[in-house]
Amino acid sequence: MKKTSVIHVQLGHTCLICETRKTEGYKLCHSFVCESCERKIVTTDVRADDYMIFVNKMRGILPGQY
Ligand SMILES: [Zn+2]
Repeated sequence: MKKTSVIHVQLGHTCLICETRKTEGYKLCHSFVCESCERKIVTTDVRADDYMIFVNKMRGILPGQY
């Protein structure tokens, strides 16, 4: 029986952005971003200071992407 690709996060992961341990979120390469931070990244204005913080954190996990 074929299994679906749903990822079960059993013990939680530490969010890359807020550094809080969460059980629900997104895997981004080898890192983890929680649901609320993912939403913040999507909704943050690109001109806002917060956005640059996100981008800088992302750079650390996505070498050569920017
Ligand atoms: Zn977070």
